[in-house]
Amino acid sequence: MNPRKPTADEYASLMKVFGGVEISSSSDIEARAQGSVRAALGFFAEFGIEFEYEPRVKYVDSFHPLNPSALANVDCGVDFSREQYRLLGAPASALNYAYKFGLEVSLETLMADFDLGYAMLHSFIFPESHDVDIMLWRPIVDNASQFNSTIVHEIWHLYERSSDLMMSSPLIIEGTATFVENLYRFEPLDSTPVDCSFLSRLQYIEVAKLVKEFVGCESDALRRLVDPLIREKINGAYFDRLHHDVVMAQSYIFGCEDMRAADTKIVLEMPQYELFRNSPSISSLLDSFSAAGMNHFVSAVSNQDLSLFYEYHVSLINDS
Ligand SMILES: [Zn+2]
Repeated sequence: MNPRKPTADEYASLMKVFGGVEISSSSDIEARAQGSVRAALGFFAEFGIEFEYEPRVKYVDSFHPLNPSALANVDCGVDFSREQYRLLGAPASALNYAYKFGLEVSLETLMADFDLGYAMLHSFIFPESHDVDIMLWRPIVDNASQFNSTIVHEIWHLYERSSDLMMSSPLIIEGTATFVENLYRFEPLDSTPVDCSFLSRLQYIEVAKLVKEFVGCESDALRRLVDPLIREKINGAYFDRLHHDVVMAQSYIFGCEDMRAADTKIVLEMPQYELFRNSPSISSLLDSFSAAGMNHFVSAVSNQDLSLFYEYHVSLINDS
């Protein structure tokens, strides 16, 4: 049996938790967000998923430094990020270095720099240690109609993280959270706006369709989604059908305008790049990469032709 669609009145009362309400302050947003969290926990309980704590939300009145369109995020931790990088970020970066700059960088080199590079980048993105579970960013203010479903999406990430479900299937988590979000909204799976990137379509929508194929939409859907055996099947189907395209799409993103904006932010504002900003040269660029924790990368490329790599980074300063 499908979960019952709410009546118009019930839906209106669900939505009044946030939707359509004028926002006056950060604490106002956070208070409303905690209300949405409690509503979301009730939704999960109906599907047999219980939480041992109430996730805490913090609103940051600015944009996510590397992803300005992000509505919200949860910190999945360094171990998860390393595993995700090993399977997706590093292969896509290696392709991008080769296509864009003619540089040969091995996966081993990229992985050797991961821990230090991640620590540096993380303290740049999240300068204060936020004692919170979910961070909301400014674009959420203009997307009030997505407020509750965004909270549901992020809470699902937290559930998967605390249940140790993420590490064994780190590349399907946006699809599982999108599936859960759409279950909450009673929305068909392809309802996400068409202007999302091809990569997002694959990671969010196409994986969510795979999830639906294996867990259905019945009242046991979420319990099936956290069953390790079913999850293994979803993960296997992801690697068979989607992974190759995801890596190619990620490498394309690394070469496109979105990434250029993030690279500009890093080069102009991250303290480790000050040397290069103040006196641009190939040697100060490599020193800045070393300072940002990428020593193995610097050793691997220092004897290669760095002209395209250098021109790109100089253009980030000149074009800003
Ligand atoms: Zn997500």
